Amino acid sequence: MRGIFIFNQLGEHHSMARKSVYFFGGGKADGKGSMKNLLGGKGANLAEMAGLGIPVPAGFTITTEVCTEYYDNKGKLPKQVHDEVAKAMLKVERVMKKKFGDAKNPLLVSVRSGARMSMPGMMDTVLNIGLCEATIPGLIAKSGDERFVYDSYRRLIMMYADVVMEKAAGIEPVDGEGVRLRLEHAMEAMKKAKGVTEDTDLDGADLKELCDEFKSIVKKTIGKAFPDNPEEQLWGGIKAVFQSWNGKRAISYRRIEGIPHEWGTAVNVQAMVYGNLGDSSATGVAFTRDPATGANVFYGEWLVNAQGEDVVAGIRTPSPLNETTKNESNKHLKSLEKEWPKVYKQLYAIRNKLEKHYRDMQDIEFTIEDGVLYMLQTRTGKRTGVAAVRMAVEMAESKLINKETAIMRVRPEQLDELLHPMIDPGAEKTANQIAKGLPAGPGGGVGQVVFTSETANEWAAKGKKVILVRNETSPEDVEGMRSAVAILTAMGGMTSHAALVARGWGKCCIVGCGSVRIDVRARQFTAEGKVYKEGDWISLNGTTGRIYEGQLPVLPAQPEKNKWYSKLMKWADVVRQIGVRTNAESPEDAAQAVAFGAEGIGLARTEHMFFEADRIIHVREMIVATNEADRRKAIMKLLDFQKKDFIGIFKAMAGKPVTVRLLDPPLHEFVGSLLEDRKELEALAKNCGVTPEAIEDRIKALHEFNPMLGHRGCRLGIAYPEITEMQARAIISAAAELTKKKVKVMPEIMVPLVGTKAELAHQRAIIERVAAEVQKEYKTKIKYLIGTMIEVPRAALTANEIAEAAEFFSFGTNDLTQMTFGYSRDDVGAFLPIYLENNILPRDPFEALDQDGVGQLVDMAVRKGRATRNGLKCGICGEHGGEASSVKFCHRVGLDYVSCSPFRVPIARFAAAQAAIENPRKAAKSKAKAKRSAKK
Ligand code: PEP
Ligand code: MG
Repeated sequence: MRGIFIFNQLGEHHSMARKSVYFFGGGKADGKGSMKNLLGGKGANLAEMAGLGIPVPAGFTITTEVCTEYYDNKGKLPKQVHDEVAKAMLKVERVMKKKFGDAKNPLLVSVRSGARMSMPGMMDTVLNIGLCEATIPGLIAKSGDERFVYDSYRRLIMMYADVVMEKAAGIEPVDGEGVRLRLEHAMEAMKKAKGVTEDTDLDGADLKELCDEFKSIVKKTIGKAFPDNPEEQLWGGIKAVFQSWNGKRAISYRRIEGIPHEWGTAVNVQAMVYGNLGDSSATGVAFTRDPATGANVFYGEWLVNAQGEDVVAGIRTPSPLNETTKNESNKHLKSLEKEWPKVYKQLYAIRNKLEKHYRDMQDIEFTIEDGVLYMLQTRTGKRTGVAAVRMAVEMAESKLINKETAIMRVRPEQLDELLHPMIDPGAEKTANQIAKGLPAGPGGGVGQVVFTSETANEWAAKGKKVILVRNETSPEDVEGMRSAVAILTAMGGMTSHAALVARGWGKCCIVGCGSVRIDVRARQFTAEGKVYKEGDWISLNGTTGRIYEGQLPVLPAQPEKNKWYSKLMKWADVVRQIGVRTNAESPEDAAQAVAFGAEGIGLARTEHMFFEADRIIHVREMIVATNEADRRKAIMKLLDFQKKDFIGIFKAMAGKPVTVRLLDPPLHEFVGSLLEDRKELEALAKNCGVTPEAIEDRIKALHEFNPMLGHRGCRLGIAYPEITEMQARAIISAAAELTKKKVKVMPEIMVPLVGTKAELAHQRAIIERVAAEVQKEYKTKIKYLIGTMIEVPRAALTANEIAEAAEFFSFGTNDLTQMTFGYSRDDVGAFLPIYLENNILPRDPFEALDQDGVGQLVDMAVRKGRATRNGLKCGICGEHGGEASSVKFCHRVGLDYVSCSPFRVPIARFAAAQAAIENPRKAAKSKAKAKRSAKK
């Protein structure tokens, strides 16, 4: 079949005389960017650039089909290919005004492989092909630089011997006996003999001598001479590329990645150009816009008489490209704009052309050889979050891209850079990293180490910046955590207490940092064998989990001052199809979240309100009570506090829905610390009118082996209905009071940790009874909902039954993940880093929702719930509600909203917008359309 009729990937029908070689250069190209299957990724890109009229060094691509043919013909290439290569080489010579193999004006070329996808295991590049005894003198005469020529020659010999003569020939030398290593040893020996340390210290004569030695080593090692003939070098290089397609490493890579062996690789042969041919040559790198700020200025660096690697190596300070982008370190240097205005103008025009064509910021490399400009590479440029936002908006405003593309251009996590202060990335590069943990709270924090909550408070009161370092935190550390600029814990995972609380405040936090050994008594910790004492400065990057020694500079966050950010977020809200709420339990946090765009509260954890100093005593009285009467008496003392809390939150949310969750944590959490605090214990005993020993016994009795699977959630409200009664009364009476004052309220009462319909029905009956009583007392009607968290696998499995008693579901994916995997959310730090390192898990499932496993439960529960109750309101309030990939999942499975900590609200809004662009919900109208049609 092959060779008679062939369909290439364009669907074109070819007879025998199909084209094997595609030329590019001189403003023209036979191929184009869409021909990746035939020309490989690199070849297609070069064709695309050349086709745009951009001056790339001329060259040609031998197609992937020739590779297949090469194997079909047992390693022989048809004459037609030889003829086409010869013709293409003539064209290259014409454009470059040099001749391959010519003694006076030699053309040198590079040979590179280039499959459809970049593939490790393929042949390395061979540069400088065409240098030989005959062409060396010509190049020396032209460049006037003997050292440059022999340096190029020794590189050619080394690369060629290694990749063509040894690897591609299938020679497998014993370790340490390979030809490259032997050549490297020879070079080291030469440097030693000359008493120098750097390659650059060897002069032209040294390198000439080295080349001779190289050639004899090649002959001795491989048994064949290095070819002194340009044609032979060229074909050796081309065949080596094809050979490398079936090299061992390449085959096994394809097997793992599922890449078909039939694809084959293309070969790119391209003219070499040199930026180091004297003072009219140069090389540079540039971005079409400023990659740090996003400003629409041409930004880059260049160096006269240099090779590409010299610009990045940092030995010479590169000069600025133009006058506008000069900075402190290079303002004394001459810009390309001033020095060579003509070339700069040409480069500037290319910059505009590339942006217009690729519709994105490009990262380019260029070389000027003897005054002639060549573009070596263009690719989409990397950028900071700040820059990504600005570029996306400005490009959309200038109609280069549409608004949807602008939204897709920014990764949701990049917004973190605008929302939190960041450690200066420049300073981070050279800082001394002492440990790494889990990135629980993004942003940067720099402060002095303290080990207790009390010290944190004291030092902070004196105006010091402190970082609270603890093994783990508990609710009692909350004040110290508030005072600290950042928190570091040796234990715990992404949903541990420290992580949840810090994220809620938008505070920098790193958890599960097992390599930090803390000795609270000695007030010090050890990391990497070094001791850090109380008062020592450290810096935390909570976005990456890295911890540094010393005081690194911090860049402040000012999202409200960033007009591009505001605009982009507005555009995102127009396309978004799901709601975004927040997890908050104080009016301040709620207000912060509303400022960030929250549309309601999806989770108010009432237990957080129980820890404040004036309440904890009553909570403890309630817990240690041994009969209902005492318990009821104690708990009713909390009623007014709770009512005030709810009034505050309802007011802050001004009519937006507020989901209040009934008491959830194991009771032991409120009293456990009393066993170590005799004074407090005695005070409580006195308050309760019992002996301290009686209290001690009661606390011990409350101890559970697995508290997170123990007496918590609705199990508390069922065992002690008075807790539910008090909380329901506080919620409904707060709502009634405000309603009477004409303040709008929308309470949603949520029962935690439900696993059976009966549990929910039990709690529901209490709430409804109390609500009816309160409404009667206040003589007013309150609209409220009763729903449940879905956070126990059984609740998801029986969601159809549970929906009979629930008016809404909210997925508690922290507990759902814990119970589905069977990983303790508080202890996961012990093995999670090992799991991630060994790829047992792709990501921390407490951070990004495990869509394959836990996600199935969510998807199923939504369907089952809605099968029972049409249009059942479903949301998520686990930490995943603020993580981009999880938010997108929530959009796809049909949730109505996500809820997350205040500082993650913008990220959730943005991720939801991207989800709507990627997978628009057909039935639903976008928010803007819905609003518009609502007005009609
Ligand atoms: C959950 O389990 O996902 C949840 C939101 O509740 P908490 O984290 O308070 O257990
Ligand atoms: Mg939970």
